[in-house]
Amino acid sequence: MNAVLGVTLQGIQALRVEVEVEITGGLFVISIVGLPDASVREARERVRAALRSLGVSVRGRVAVNLAPADSPKEGALLDLPIAIGIAHAMGEIRVKRPSIFMGELALDGRVRRVRGAVPAALLARTHGLPFFVPGGNAAEVSLVKGVEAYRVDHIRDLFAHLKGDGALEPIVPGTCAEEPHEPDPDFSDIKGQAAAKRALEIAAAGHHNILMTGSPGSGKTLLARALKDILPPLSDEELMEALLVRSTVGLPMDGTRRRPFRSIHHTASTIAICGGGTNLRPGEISLAHRGVLFLDEFTEFRRDLLESLRQPLEDGFISVSRASGSVTYPARVLLVTACNPCPCGYWGDPVEPCRCSPGAIERYRRKLSGPILDRIDLYVTVPRLTPEELVQAGGEEGEGSSRVRERVVKARERQWERWSSMGFQCNAELPEKTLRKQVRLDTEGKRFLREMATRIRLSGRGVSRVLKVARTIADLAGDEDLSTMHLAEALAFREGGNLPWTS
Ligand SMILES: [Zn+2]
Repeated sequence: MNAVLGVTLQGIQALRVEVEVEITGGLFVISIVGLPDASVREARERVRAALRSLGVSVRGRVAVNLAPADSPKEGALLDLPIAIGIAHAMGEIRVKRPSIFMGELALDGRVRRVRGAVPAALLARTHGLPFFVPGGNAAEVSLVKGVEAYRVDHIRDLFAHLKGDGALEPIVPGTCAEEPHEPDPDFSDIKGQAAAKRALEIAAAGHHNILMTGSPGSGKTLLARALKDILPPLSDEELMEALLVRSTVGLPMDGTRRRPFRSIHHTASTIAICGGGTNLRPGEISLAHRGVLFLDEFTEFRRDLLESLRQPLEDGFISVSRASGSVTYPARVLLVTACNPCPCGYWGDPVEPCRCSPGAIERYRRKLSGPILDRIDLYVTVPRLTPEELVQAGGEEGEGSSRVRERVVKARERQWERWSSMGFQCNAELPEKTLRKQVRLDTEGKRFLREMATRIRLSGRGVSRVLKVARTIADLAGDEDLSTMHLAEALAFREGGNLPWTS
């Protein structure tokens, strides 16, 4: 193995790149093999200038080979290993132990923050190699346990370290607070909306995707944001997964175990949401991994975009293809969608009348019955509060998010005990067969469900959904058996909810 190593990213994985340098006499020229043209030009300039800032002037014909040559590479994070490789070949420094270097060079020799430091740290740990990383990436790298990492703010310090003149500071392992963070917003900050809060509690407990309908200004967005804080805090493993995705796009972590919340607008591109692009990056659905993905104004989203979310919602990962093959990003999200009940937005509003024609409402219904709806378990109406209700609700403090989260955590534990041996974590994941076999009803429950299914014309899929949601409601209550009470509450959140065409 060559002593000077860099990395390139493939999905959320870092691959090792060996930097081989050969210098022969003649006129000065640097040629870099294994990088796309534009990056080579830029890297060449940065590397030469940074070395010059140390008084190292590069002469002769410098050939840099980045192996393996066939894997695609992005330039900037390879600046540092290329510079070290050249200085090593010139005899300016000796890299005695094979090490991984990463960083973008400024012309004056400063080392800039790059994306992908966490996957690179994991690679260094796997191979037991020392890892030299920009100071700007030190915080995220400190969360990777068991890696020998050093922060480099200037190439001068790295030279000194390799010459044995001055030692770089090793990065001290950090931790993410185990304590639950402050909810923002807290459930108690949201006035009224008891049904919506209850629906969100059930969604959080059983990992059920949810649709909220309500007039503009009813607080759907606020409620969606509150959902992330009634979910259990990220576990160690989940934290590392979220960290990997964020590091790949160059986003820092906030130092808590707060679950991600990503809100996407209907004008966003498929690449922005699903991932891809020339400089391959994960999309919003992956940034929301282990957290909440919020689609506001759901009916405005393009059909093809919703179609492309179907598979990841089912599988928990998303594959992005490109010329050189495809990469996979994690994408296990809790989906929250929201929309108006009708085109004008005021159907069912306590004050404002709905001005929509029956034709307009029918067209809206068809728009809403798009490709994602079969992934949604819970439907809830979020009414705008009347002035009287606002005054009333203002007086009392509702239950806080941390109390709700405690119930959610207990319900999750119950599901884990019941399903983990079958390979499931949450009620929402149960396939049809398991559901019918494992979620049993007594005679009374069966009779009740049959009656309701006939009366409100529930489809087979609708019945399964009611069963799953009822199972979660029972888990929240700590009940082992499903009762008609659990079923009745689940039915209140059934498909369609309270919309113009269901009432
Ligand atoms: Zn309307």
